[in-house]
Amino acid sequence: MSRKMLIDGELSSSTDDGVQYDFDLFVIGGGSGGVRAARFSAGFGAKVAICELPFHPISSELLGGFGGTCVIRGCVPKKILVYGASFGGELEDARNYGWELNQKIDFNWKKLLQKKTQEIVRLNEIYKRMLTNAGVKSFEGEGRISGPHEVEVTQIDDTKLSFSAKHILIATGSRAQRPHIPGQELGITSDEALSLDEFPKRAVILGGGYIAVEFASIWRGMGGTVDLFFRKELPLRGFDDEMRALVAKNLEGRGINLHPGTNLKELIKTDNGIKVLTDHGEELMADVVLFATGRIPNSKRLNLGAVGVQLDAAGAVKVDEYSRTNIPSIWAIGDVTNRINLTPVALMEGTCFSKTVFGGQPSKPDYNDVPCAVFCIPPLSVVGLSEQQAVEQAKGDILVFTSTFNPMKNTISGRQEKSMMKLIVDAETDKVLGAAMCGPDAPEITQGIAIALKCGATKAQFDSTVGIHPSAAEEFVTMRSVTRTVAGALKPKTNL
Ligand SMILES: Cc1cc2nc3c(=O)[nH]c(=O)nc-3n(C[C@H](O)[C@H](O)[C@H](O)COP(=O)(O)OP(=O)(O)OC[C@H]3O[C@@H](n4cnc5c(N)ncnc54)[C@H](O)[C@@H]3O)c2cc1C
Repeated sequence: MSRKMLIDGELSSSTDDGVQYDFDLFVIGGGSGGVRAARFSAGFGAKVAICELPFHPISSELLGGFGGTCVIRGCVPKKILVYGASFGGELEDARNYGWELNQKIDFNWKKLLQKKTQEIVRLNEIYKRMLTNAGVKSFEGEGRISGPHEVEVTQIDDTKLSFSAKHILIATGSRAQRPHIPGQELGITSDEALSLDEFPKRAVILGGGYIAVEFASIWRGMGGTVDLFFRKELPLRGFDDEMRALVAKNLEGRGINLHPGTNLKELIKTDNGIKVLTDHGEELMADVVLFATGRIPNSKRLNLGAVGVQLDAAGAVKVDEYSRTNIPSIWAIGDVTNRINLTPVALMEGTCFSKTVFGGQPSKPDYNDVPCAVFCIPPLSVVGLSEQQAVEQAKGDILVFTSTFNPMKNTISGRQEKSMMKLIVDAETDKVLGAAMCGPDAPEITQGIAIALKCGATKAQFDSTVGIHPSAAEEFVTMRSVTRTVAGALKPKTNL
C-alpha cells in the first residue's frame, strides 16, 4: 500500500516515483534531534528507522548511545555535577544562617559519579523505549549513506545491513576537538571529564566557552584547585561584555584562577602529574588537563562526499531553511549542521523537519530569541540581543537598563558576590530586544522572560507587570531609570 506524504506542501508517496522503499525515513544518529524527528515522523504515520552507535559514556567514532550527547555526556550529566558542586558554596553560606557544621565534611566524587552513570544508563533505556513505543525500528551500529536513498549500517559484529529510504535524515551531532600541542594525548575532553575515576584535585582547563567555565565551577565547587586558560581578555566570547566581566569576577571570587590571553604550549607527563607549560612561560602541575576548545560536526565517516552532499569549511552539513541538503532526499538537523548548537534547537529542527516532510505543514525553525544558559556558579542566562549586538544592528537609539545588586541571601551569608540583570530596549518602539541575568536561578528566570520577548513585549509592559516579592526576578520589572543611551545618531548611517 502506498503511503501518502506531504513534502514542502506537495503531495507525494513512497511509491509515486515507481520505487518501493524499505522506509519512508531513515535517521542516522539517535541524539536529541534524531530521536525527536523519528518519533514525530512516526506519529505522522511514516514508516521510520533509526540507527545509533552502541552505548558508552565516552564517545568515539564507534561508540555513542541512544539519547546522544545531551543525555549521556552533555547537558544532563553536567547539570548533575553542577548540582553536586553547588552544595560546596551552600554549605559555606549555611554557617551564617545558623547551621553548626561541626564535623569534617567530605565530598565523595566516586559516589556522585556512580549515581550520574546510573542516571544516564536509565535515560538511555528510556530513549530506546520511547522509540519502540512510537513504532520506530531501531538498529545499533554505524550508519553511512551509500546513495541518495540508501543507508548502510555496520553492526558491532561487523555485519552490514542495507536499507532504502525515501528520505534520509543526518542527525549525527558533533564531537570535542583537541588542540595540536605537544603532549595533547595527556589531556582529556568533556566526555572523559564527566566520567573520571578520581576527583581532579588540581585541574587545568583550556578554553573560554561555556563548557570550560562550567567545568571550572564544578571542580572548584567540589574543592579542587582550578586554573582556567583562555585566549581573550574575558571568557564567554559572544555573550554580553558586561555579563562576561561579571562572570569572570564571580569565578575569581569563588577561587578559580583565571589566565586571560594565555594558551597552553606543551603537556609533559611526570611522576607528580602533568606538567603544563604556557605560552607566557608559566609552569604548573595538574592531575587533569581539560581541553574545552570547541567541537566539530560528525560528518567525516558518512560518505557524504561520494553522495554529493555539500559541507561547509568546518565540515558542517549545509542545509536550507527547512534543513534540506543539496540532495533533495537527504536532510540534516542538530549540531552536525552547526547552526545554534543546543539541545532545544536540535529538538526544534527535528520537529520542523517532521512537520514539513510528513505533517503537511512546511515549517522553518525560528532562531529568534533562543534563550540559553551557562551553568557556571552562579549561572548566566541570556535571551535576544546583547548590548553589543543591539548597537551593531541599531537603526535608532538603544536604551540600556541595568541592575546590579547584592542578592538578599548574601546579606546574611556574607558572601561577596553581585547579581546583575540587564534589559536592552529599542528607544523608538520601546520593544525589549534582549535580556540577560547573572546570578542564582538565572536560567529559571530567563525562560519566562524569553516568552515575553517572543511575544514582542515592550519595556512599558515589563514596567506594568507586578513583581514577586521578595525575589531577584522582580528586578526585571522594576528597572525604572535608564543606565545609558547608546545614540544611533553616533553611528555612521551610510558609507559616505
Ligand atoms: C559537555 C556538554 C554540555 C552541554 N550542555 C548543554 C546545555 O546545558 N544545554 C544545551 O542546550 N546544550 C548543551 N550541550 C549541547 C547539546 O548536547 C547538543 O547541542 C545536542 O546534543 C545536539 O543534539 P544532536 O541531536 O544534534 O546531536 P547528539 O545529541 O550529539 O546526537 C548525535 C548522535 O549521533 C550518533 N552518531 C554519530 N555518528 C553516527 C553514525 N555514523 N551512525 C549512527 N549514529 C551516529 C552519536 O553517537 C550521537 O548519539 C552540551 C554539550 C556538551 C558536549
